[in-house]
Amino acid sequence: MPTKKDYYEILGVPRNATQDEIKQAYRRLVRQYHPDLNKDPSAQEKFKEINEAYQVLSDPQKRAQYDQFGSVGDFAGYGDFQQGWNPGDFDFGNFGRTFEDIFENFFGDSIFGDLFGRRERQRTSRKGADLRYDINITLEEAAFGGKKEFFVTRLETCPTCKGSRAEPGSQPITCDMCNGTGQVRTTRRTPFGQFVQITTCPKCHGEGKIITNPCHECHGTGKVRKKRKIEFKIPAGVDEGYVIRLAGEGEPGDNGGPNGDLYIYIHIEPHKIFKRDGEDIWMDLPVDFITAILGGEIEIPTLEGKEKIKIKPGTQSNEIITLKGKGIPNLNNPGKRGDQKIRVYITVPTNLSQEEKELLLELAKIRGIKIEENKNIFEQIRDAFKK
Ligand SMILES: [Zn+2]
Ligand SMILES: [Zn+2]
Repeated sequence: MPTKKDYYEILGVPRNATQDEIKQAYRRLVRQYHPDLNKDPSAQEKFKEINEAYQVLSDPQKRAQYDQFGSVGDFAGYGDFQQGWNPGDFDFGNFGRTFEDIFENFFGDSIFGDLFGRRERQRTSRKGADLRYDINITLEEAAFGGKKEFFVTRLETCPTCKGSRAEPGSQPITCDMCNGTGQVRTTRRTPFGQFVQITTCPKCHGEGKIITNPCHECHGTGKVRKKRKIEFKIPAGVDEGYVIRLAGEGEPGDNGGPNGDLYIYIHIEPHKIFKRDGEDIWMDLPVDFITAILGGEIEIPTLEGKEKIKIKPGTQSNEIITLKGKGIPNLNNPGKRGDQKIRVYITVPTNLSQEEKELLLELAKIRGIKIEENKNIFEQIRDAFKK
């Protein structure tokens, strides 16, 4: 650890600066260089220097030593983020929290509110756990959306103690080990002066309070397991793997932290008739031999019920009939819909009556088709008609 630095210069204060001036300069610089707030790569180094300088100049004993010798010796840990940084010296409150916690909060509500707002040291607030629920829906539900519900068993804030963990009417007592600060300070003397090690109080785990009469409902956890009905809306046009986020429907946070979220993963059950291809739906349609030749009308299923379609005379196998706008609505623009695609395949009867057989042989004769025995007459005639 270099010790030849000019700590006054680092904090930008004169050599005769008062403790208040030093403190003010420190506050200002922390706001400027805190690595959470200043993404410049050099900010981290600068921030270490600032802390190092403040550790020395804020302590009259160390400051005197520094003034006299230009050094305070090799202070292990000084200038190091965690150890050298003494939140007890400085009522920034949450600055005493670990960097992990601060980073966690950075993605939370408001870093500025968190860093500079609260004056009191508090136990870290944490967002509750997110939950995942997988749900199967039909193709019709995916197409047209609608309301859906299910039950989920989750942790919720205990209604009896409102999450305080103490029996209503009872008061937590101040921790006698840390006197309610949540921290334990150990002072170590070295030839160069003393320094202070700060750790989270092992008795109260940093809360400063001890619950002597835990809530009977949640056994002092502040949370209870509850079965809840969750209602949600499926947007029209969803596809496999679509995720719906219900903000705040996850498990409760700790120490005033927000609830987690509930994520609903949509799965679409296979359909008896339709296969989905994006916004289009496909089906195979059996058309009997006679209708394929002569044309006609066939009733078919659609997503919204039955409908009659025309089969034109001479329809071949694998021909595709398109019903415009009878597919799946576009998720972002439900007015726009895909198509229903109908692939035709032609069926032939296998159980001919004698009369039918004679009529078909007559037809074959007219068409000049040579009928082979032991083969399906319909198929032979159909194939002959294709040529
Ligand atoms: Zn409770
Ligand atoms: Zn304690």
